[in-house]
Amino acid sequence: GQCITHCPVGALRERDDTEKVWDAIADSKKVVVAQVAPAVRAAWGEALGLSREEATVGKIMDALKKMGVDYVFDTSFTADLTIMEEGNEFLQRLTKGELNLRPMFTSCCPGWIRFIKSQYPHLVPQLSTAKSPQQMFGAVMKTYFAESIGVKPEDMVTVSVMPCVAKKGEANMELYAGEYAGHDVDIVLTTRELTRMMRSAHIEVDTLKDRECDPLMKEYTGAGVIFGATGGVMEAALRSAHYLLTGKNPDPDAFKIVRSPAFGSGVIEAEVQIGHAKVRAAVVSGLGNTRKLIEQIEKGQVHYDFVEVMACPGGCVGGGGQPIHDGEELAHDRGENLYFLDKHADLRFSHENPDVIRLYHDYFEKPLSHKSHMLLHTDHNKWQMPGR
Ligand code: SF4
Repeated sequence: GQCITHCPVGALRERDDTEKVWDAIADSKKVVVAQVAPAVRAAWGEALGLSREEATVGKIMDALKKMGVDYVFDTSFTADLTIMEEGNEFLQRLTKGELNLRPMFTSCCPGWIRFIKSQYPHLVPQLSTAKSPQQMFGAVMKTYFAESIGVKPEDMVTVSVMPCVAKKGEANMELYAGEYAGHDVDIVLTTRELTRMMRSAHIEVDTLKDRECDPLMKEYTGAGVIFGATGGVMEAALRSAHYLLTGKNPDPDAFKIVRSPAFGSGVIEAEVQIGHAKVRAAVVSGLGNTRKLIEQIEKGQVHYDFVEVMACPGGCVGGGGQPIHDGEELAHDRGENLYFLDKHADLRFSHENPDVIRLYHDYFEKPLSHKSHMLLHTDHNKWQMPGR
C-alpha cells in the first residue's frame, strides 16, 4: 500500500487513536482543543467524495465542533509563529557566522528528525531549535490559551489532526519542566482517522458549513498554509526574512523559485539576495534525495545556508496519514491546492498575522525571548523519536 512506500517511518501497522478522542469528549471535566494541519485540507475530501472546492478547512472545523470538540484551531497559525522564531534564529545564526561550514536545517518534520538523529548525529546541532507547528500549538494551547479561558493545563486535552503518522511519535517529546510538566499534544489523529471519526459520528458532509476558528488564535496567513507542501517553509521564511532585513515586504511571490516545479524532482536550489545578505537555500523532499544532498554537503561539493527537508516526497501533502489511492500520486495536486489558497489569502506574510502579533505583545514579548525558548524551542539531544 501507499503507506509502506510513502510513510518514511514505516508505520506498517496503523495505530488508531480515535477512541481516545471520543473518551476525552465524553469526559465532562476535560476541555478538548483541536488543531488541523495545513496539508489535511488538501486531502480530507478525497475520502468523502468532495471536490476540492467543497472540501474546505472550515467544514473540518464544523465537523469537529459537531463531534463535541470545544475549541478548534488551524495549525497554519503556529506555522506563522514558527516562521517568526525560526526566521529570526536563522538570521541570528547567519550573522554570527555559524552557518559558514554547514547550513541550518528545518526541524518541523519528525520523519527527517528521526533520520538525522540515526544517520547523521553529528549534524543534529545544525537543526533549528524551533519546535514544529504542531508542538508549538500544543504548548501555546496549554499556557496562553488555557490561562485566557481559565482552565488548568491538566484539564485540557490537546488533539491534532495531521497528514502524518510520524507526528504521533513527535507528540511524545517533552515540554520543559517548570512551565508545565506534560505533553504539548496529547492525541494525534491522521487525516484518515479524522474521516473515520466523521463516519462513525454519522456526520453528513453536505450539511457542514464553513466555520471559523475560535478567537485569540483565529488568523493565519497564506505563508502558514503552504507549510504543507515542499518548499513552503522556505518560501514563508524568505518572505519574512526579507522584511526583517530590509524593513519592507517583498512581492509575496518573489521567492516562488523554491516551489517544486514537478513532483519528485529532487533538490531545488536558490540563491537569493535580501538587502545586503546573500542566502543560499535548498529544498529537498524524500529521504533518498535527502541522503544524496547531505553527502554532497559533507564532501564540500555544495554549500547552503538554509535547507528545508521533508521526509515525504512532495512534503506533508503526500504524508503517510493522508487518504490512500492505489496507484495515484496526488501530492502534486494537493500542493497546488495549497498554493492556490496562498495566492488568494488576504495576508501572505507570517509577520503580519494579527493574532501572532498579539501573542507576542501579550505573552512571548518577542521572537527568541526567554519565554519563547522555554515553550517554543527544544533541545534535540533531549528527546528521541520512538522506534518502530
Ligand atoms: Fe510527516 Fe510531513 Fe514529515 Fe511526511 S513530510 S513525515 S507528513 S511531517
